[in-house]
Amino acid sequence: MGYEKNGDKQITRHHRKNRANRGTDDESNISLVPRKRHEAFHTLWGNMNTNQIAEDLNNVWIDPEFQLVVVRRGA
Ligand SMILES: [Zn+2]
Repeated sequence: MGYEKNGDKQITRHHRKNRANRGTDDESNISLVPRKRHEAFHTLWGNMNTNQIAEDLNNVWIDPEFQLVVVRRGA
């Protein structure tokens, strides 16, 4: 995914469900991501939950002809 484009090889651990929302340290909840991308994520969305991030993407960032919809896996 072009992670090394900017010489960013420092890998960090991201909690997919953040700890503020009771996310755990379980492997399934951790993504390994380059530091700069990780910082960019939290600059944009801090500790917002999935629904809040989708709302922000829909309201600000993506093509207005589309809408992201959050669906719980396995539901
Ligand atoms: Zn993180």
